[in-house]
Amino acid sequence: MVQKTTLLPEVRRHYGDVKNYIDGKWVDPSAKEWLDDTNPATGETIARVPLSPKEDIDAAVRAALGAWEEWRETPPLSRARYFFHLRNLMEEHFEELARIVTQDHGKIIDEARGEVRRAIENVEVAAGIPSLMMGYNLEDGAAAGIDEEVLYQPLGVFAGISPFNFPAMVQFWFWPYAVATGNCWIAKPSEQDPLVQARIFELIDRAGFPPGVVNLVNGAKEAVEGICDHPDIKGVSFVGSTPIAKLVYSRAAAQGKRVQCGGGAKNLLVVMPDAKLDRIVPNMISSVYGTAGERCLAGSLIVGLGEAHDPVRRKFTEAASKLKLGYGLDETVQMGPVITRKHQERVLGYIDKGEAEGAKPLLDGRKVKVPGYEHGYFVGPTVLDGVAPEMTVAKEEIFGPVASVLEMEDLDEAIEWINRSPYGNAASIYTSSGKAARDFRYKVKAGSIGINLGIAAAMAYFPFGGMKNSFFGDLHPQGRDAIRFFTESKVVITRWV
Ligand code: NAD
Repeated sequence: MVQKTTLLPEVRRHYGDVKNYIDGKWVDPSAKEWLDDTNPATGETIARVPLSPKEDIDAAVRAALGAWEEWRETPPLSRARYFFHLRNLMEEHFEELARIVTQDHGKIIDEARGEVRRAIENVEVAAGIPSLMMGYNLEDGAAAGIDEEVLYQPLGVFAGISPFNFPAMVQFWFWPYAVATGNCWIAKPSEQDPLVQARIFELIDRAGFPPGVVNLVNGAKEAVEGICDHPDIKGVSFVGSTPIAKLVYSRAAAQGKRVQCGGGAKNLLVVMPDAKLDRIVPNMISSVYGTAGERCLAGSLIVGLGEAHDPVRRKFTEAASKLKLGYGLDETVQMGPVITRKHQERVLGYIDKGEAEGAKPLLDGRKVKVPGYEHGYFVGPTVLDGVAPEMTVAKEEIFGPVASVLEMEDLDEAIEWINRSPYGNAASIYTSSGKAARDFRYKVKAGSIGINLGIAAAMAYFPFGGMKNSFFGDLHPQGRDAIRFFTESKVVITRWV
């Protein structure tokens, strides 16, 4: 029986066959293989996604190259105006975009709204391109009467490959900066939830970007390989799992491309005995179970130090047990499903393995039932206690709503653990001690550090990225680092004769 809910309407029931957008036109992919795209809350098929072949990437590169000369000669101020226009269109369609994210990905509507907001913020930052892209100069820099200056110039065509967990936002970590700096772009979203990008590209089309400047090719492995190998693509931005990040990094770098690849994560939340538990537990819950744990910044390991150990696991488990699961379009729901049946099985497999290796489920999400959504891919909030460092659940990224509770002696041990981990995406400390927070910030090898905050997500004007196996490349996406990634510098020395 379906529970009484406050369900928001879906934008559409079925979205048909997803197309590619190349040279300012919606075109049929030349894919021979198509995948069903399902709504993870209901299990219903809501679209078909093409696995576009290399030839479709080639067509997008031709279009982008054709547009490039004119686009790079368009003054930055004029380029910025397209972004103002796009920003307004995205605001106008804000709620619609968020609902598509929820329907296709499964995250709850408020999280989807937050994601679309972050995408828009990147457009807003990139619209400041005339100041962001400025070079610098020095009179008499080379000798008296000889001035020296640095110019930043676009390289040509770039491509971006994104993961399923932020289907709207991650492409916006890259392309507004690439295109605002005068490059042309090819987007390759995740084949698991491509619908919001398809809708965003309708808005990009309405914003009036010249044909070929921004292109969309849907697909998976073959399209990605086509991007990595194409001699006319100057650089690749990637975000996804570590094994694929490594593949893309090495394959694209072997072609001499610029490459930035965000990878997976295994993030630790440390609670000091002086932390204010009643204030921090809701934040820890949102870190671990937000987006059903499918966030690269999600807390996945929990450590309460000393006398914090018992109350932390007790209060955390109690709060987790109260989360309401369901379809994210119901505004009373607090956690949605995971992305696919396959991923659900993978997450459940990790819980089984954790138990088999000796962990004890304090809260077990394996047999969860969500009335009315029996075909959805739900995993209930899970807390595994007594997790030892050598257990699989302590080491591998689960990417689901599973917290593993570890016991450690002190802050030094926690910091050592984080620094020994092959991942270095994020880490958080909860404390009232400035000294402990400062030590943590100073010593921890992770790209995003949270102090009394479980999701340390950089805003659009700051770089977003990790260390170690969580990032391959030099410059992180977003903000000033992105401007550097998408431009090359040229030094000009003038002797005024
Ligand atoms: P994924 O690696 O499976 O897929 C990412 C992209 O790579 C997709 O576009 C996909 O089509 C493509 N791809 C998949 N298999 C491929 C193959 N064999 N060859 C070439 N391309 C391939 O990742 P996902 O499951 O979509 O996303 C989840 C992962 O992303 C998690 O590991 C998460 O931690 C990570 N992530 C990292 C960050 C970050 O900033 N570091 C942010 C978000 C997500």
